[in-house]
Amino acid sequence: MKITKLFNDKRPVISFEIFPPKKELPISSIYGALDGLADLNPDFISVTYGAGGTGSNKTIEIASIIKNKYEIEALAHLTCITSNKEVIQQNIKALQENNLENVLALRGDVPSDFIRREENQYQYGVDLIKELKGYGDFDIGAAVYPEGHIECDDVEKDLQYLKEKEAAGANFLVSQLFFDNEIFYGFLEKLKAYKIESKVLAGVMPILSKKQVEKMIFMCGASLPAKVIRLVSKYEHQPELLRQAGIEYAAEQVADLIANEVDGIHIYTMNQPDIAKGILKRQKKTVTGHIDKF
Ligand code: FAD
Repeated sequence: MKITKLFNDKRPVISFEIFPPKKELPISSIYGALDGLADLNPDFISVTYGAGGTGSNKTIEIASIIKNKYEIEALAHLTCITSNKEVIQQNIKALQENNLENVLALRGDVPSDFIRREENQYQYGVDLIKELKGYGDFDIGAAVYPEGHIECDDVEKDLQYLKEKEAAGANFLVSQLFFDNEIFYGFLEKLKAYKIESKVLAGVMPILSKKQVEKMIFMCGASLPAKVIRLVSKYEHQPELLRQAGIEYAAEQVADLIANEVDGIHIYTMNQPDIAKGILKRQKKTVTGHIDKF
């Protein structure tokens, strides 16, 4: 099923993000995580592409397992910056052969040692969106950044580029993580002002350790509310308590997002089903099948 159709039946749409196992591990090593996540009955599961040093070539295979074995809708991420037309077309063919209808089209992070060659025709996410539109009938997602993309100093410009991505064919949006919901609500207002009308899934990543928070804020520029700083400082040397407090904080964020009737919530699970379960089981308001289960 196309992801845009999911929004017709449910609010919020609940999705989980996973990453493929490292290159040296077999594909079957993802089954434990998938079994746990499938039990929570998400609307779809997305699989990252080449992020964080993982094996990009496993993305479509895992998305296919999610869709065809677990019978859960899948969203395959695809990046273009280090790629070329031949590889992208191979990926499009593989998506079609595996009956995968949804793609998150991304530029990808630029590796520090990357040297652009003539064959690297794609510069921005929008270039990949155009390519996907030309070769298949996909629902195409684009990434959005409630606090602006880290490389872009001008949030207004970021929104103009997003508008171009929508015009090129992106028809749903998945947000970067944020720790302050007010920033996300302000961003939704800006989307309205720019007449960007695609449904948006709000990205939520629970804090599990100080190291992880530091990595994320430098990677994506997310702001840390005082409450989060205090929480990390309080439990910095008690990993299990910090983990629980992080899940609790994310659960509060999700409860507030649900109360504010967002279109969707995308949980960055880091392949740990107990995180998603911990967040969903803390929801008091019964809005969806998954939350009903607890
Ligand atoms: P773009 O839309 O290309 O934007 C990148 C930068 O260029 C921005 O600063 C933007 O303002 C600017 N820009 C855009 N268009 C133009 C233009 N026409 N002219 C000039 N400047 C322009 N990375 C992975 O490697 N694998 C993944 O699986 C992955 N999954 C992700 C999932 C989500 C939900 C999110 C939010 C991010 C994900 N990322 C992933 C990270 C993503 O690849 C990086 O954030 C990347 O730096 C930007 O990708 P993009 O497609 O949003 O870029």
